[in-house]
Amino acid sequence: MFLQRSALAVARRAAVSPVARRTFAVSAIRRDAKNVEPHASIDQKIKSFNDIKSEADLVGPGAAPGTVPTDLEQSTGLERLEILGKMEGVDIFDMRPLDASRKGTIDNPILVKSAGDEQYAGCTGYPADSHIVTWLGMSRERPMERCPECGSVYKMEYVGPQDDGHGHHDHHGYEEPKTFANYVKPEYW
Ligand SMILES: [Zn+2]
Repeated sequence: MFLQRSALAVARRAAVSPVARRTFAVSAIRRDAKNVEPHASIDQKIKSFNDIKSEADLVGPGAAPGTVPTDLEQSTGLERLEILGKMEGVDIFDMRPLDASRKGTIDNPILVKSAGDEQYAGCTGYPADSHIVTWLGMSRERPMERCPECGSVYKMEYVGPQDDGHGHHDHHGYEEPKTFANYVKPEYW
């Protein structure tokens, strides 16, 4: 919660602070008054998070001539979507830490959402930070993993596209390296 709020505050400060922009604009105009166009109202050209319908909407208007652009004015693509989301309190990449209110079990694992074929998660034990970070790898083929340090169980929950046209079972002939888990009874996985 703390992290989310502070990120939001930073984004607001960096992206939309009218004080900062005016400072830059004024000093630029003083330095080069003849060549600077009247300051167009950039705020009117900026699409809000809810106006974004396609990739083409994720292009900023750029800065007014003679001014230093802010992230809000010049960022594009996913970075732009992230900033616009933060301005409205939407955490588009779901950067919250994993559930650390309990220890995961095989019957009730800690869920780790992933939009890709594999996902790494760092466990610090329960209570949180009771051991150093241990990185655990999960994949769509083998979604469950157990922390060797504290025994907490994690499970990857795939939330990506169902068919990305890539063929998951024959990934360019890649075969996941075998581990001890391949040689124990499947019910212990
Ligand atoms: Zn652990």
